[in-house]
Amino acid sequence: MQDKIEFCPYCGNSLSTKRNEGRDRLYCEAGKRFVYQNPIPAATGLIFDKEGKILLVLRGREPGGNQWCLPGGFVETDETPIQAAKRELFEETGLNVSSPTLIDVNFQNSLFYKTSILIIGYHFAEYSGTLIAGDDAEEAGFFALNNLPDLAFESHMELIDKFVSDKAPSL
Ligand SMILES: [Zn+2]
Repeated sequence: MQDKIEFCPYCGNSLSTKRNEGRDRLYCEAGKRFVYQNPIPAATGLIFDKEGKILLVLRGREPGGNQWCLPGGFVETDETPIQAAKRELFEETGLNVSSPTLIDVNFQNSLFYKTSILIIGYHFAEYSGTLIAGDDAEEAGFFALNNLPDLAFESHMELIDKFVSDKAPSL
């Protein structure tokens, strides 16, 4: 799925292809190392208000521009997935979230990023603060589960479905 890169990201020399563990992998002859291409991790968070409505944000830009989705984004190299989810939730909604539990890790191909993405989904049982859309979120709001808009990402709907089917009796 990932676009092939031509040059080694470590030393800038041209890459060749070498058979390794049953796959043709990019290889840097100069550095004598394989250059691995892997899915990019993203973290997202589900929070519900007292009425059991779920928090969504309206995306301001591509991919999924002008469509609703769960708040979230890519994990930075110096943060854990939970930290990434908390940071993205704060940036996009102004809310401070806590008490995370892992719902699932989903996989989705992204035509926009030309790679595959791992979506790490958490439920945060508590939150505080005032809801205000920020960063790449144009709007933020709570939606009844039986009246959700079409979401920008299939993986987000899968996380919601998984959470609801796991937790349905107590929600
Ligand atoms: Zn190299």
